[in-house]
Amino acid sequence: MPEYDCIIIGSGPAGLTAGLYAARAGMKVLLLEKAACGGQMLWTELIENFPGFPEGAKGAELAERMRAQAVKAGVQLITEEVKQVAAAQSPGTFQYYNVKTQQRDYSSYSIILACGAYPRRLGVPKEEALTGRGVSYCATCDGPLFRGREVVVIGGGNAACEEALFLSKFARKVALVHRRDKLRADQVFQDRLKANPKIELIWNSQVLEILGEDKVTGVKIKNKIDAKEKEISCAGVFIFVGLRTDTDFVQDLVKKDAQGFVVTDNALKTSSSGIFACGDCRVRALQQIITACSEGAEAAVASRNYVEQLKKDS
Ligand code: NAP
Repeated sequence: MPEYDCIIIGSGPAGLTAGLYAARAGMKVLLLEKAACGGQMLWTELIENFPGFPEGAKGAELAERMRAQAVKAGVQLITEEVKQVAAAQSPGTFQYYNVKTQQRDYSSYSIILACGAYPRRLGVPKEEALTGRGVSYCATCDGPLFRGREVVVIGGGNAACEEALFLSKFARKVALVHRRDKLRADQVFQDRLKANPKIELIWNSQVLEILGEDKVTGVKIKNKIDAKEKEISCAGVFIFVGLRTDTDFVQDLVKKDAQGFVVTDNALKTSSSGIFACGDCRVRALQQIITACSEGAEAAVASRNYVEQLKKDS
């Protein structure tokens, strides 16, 4: 018999909510997390659009509260990186799953993929070499290092705008470089950005390379309208150009899109029965903490229904 009813992979808001709901439904739940609990909440200073917090919630604090609530509900939480999920067949007829980590193997009737997403790389020269030497993907983590300095933020979505605003608390000047003439971010961020005297918006510009030898000294950009190139000197480059995911460990067990995001139906079922997905690792329209939580709850209920039926039938 499998050891667990449900193994959840990932401990962002989707995984922690899935754990909370599954444990409260009486399931035996293991949550595997490769590093710290909380996912992208950990990199967010202040979360202003999670209901119930009129003054905003600190990302790390919200993450800790979600973790504590899941553990209190009975979720077993282990910090081990999942290397592989594989289907197995019981001596009877039902299918279950083996989950392999570096340390050991676990087995479960069902799996919830909640492994989240990570910042995408821009893919320009020196980006990799200067990461940690002025190139950053986390303003919450690295922003205070740039007190009184000039920084460049790249991107035009919610993350770029929110983090540019956060960085303006420390930096002397923030230049936000966007490849179009219109931001993708929510209006509330656009309004705050335009009202902030420390932030300069640089439109229609593509980053050609990051400058510097052993630390960042600037970025070279090209205006897409007049093809003129220029260098902006800065000590930090913060890149927020969308998200990527890492779902290689499920191999081809579930259908994915070209970027590796997991495809599900509306009930959060993947193409493999007994495997569900929720949050930023799946193909979805609205990547928010609130939707990750909602999907985590739905995935847990779907998993419970699936496991109950499986046990009845076997
Ligand atoms: P996003 O919404 O996908 O925006 C990515 C931005 O990067 C876009 O402006 C895009 O330009 C630009 N971009 C993409 N590839 C680029 C490239 N190669 N070179 C230059 N620019 C490039 O991603 P995000 O801002 O990281 O946010 C990810 C998700 O998290 C979103 O769904 C977002 O709403 C959510 N989020 C929400 C909040 C919040 O609600 N407080 C905060 C952070 C993130 P184009 O506009 O031209 O495509």
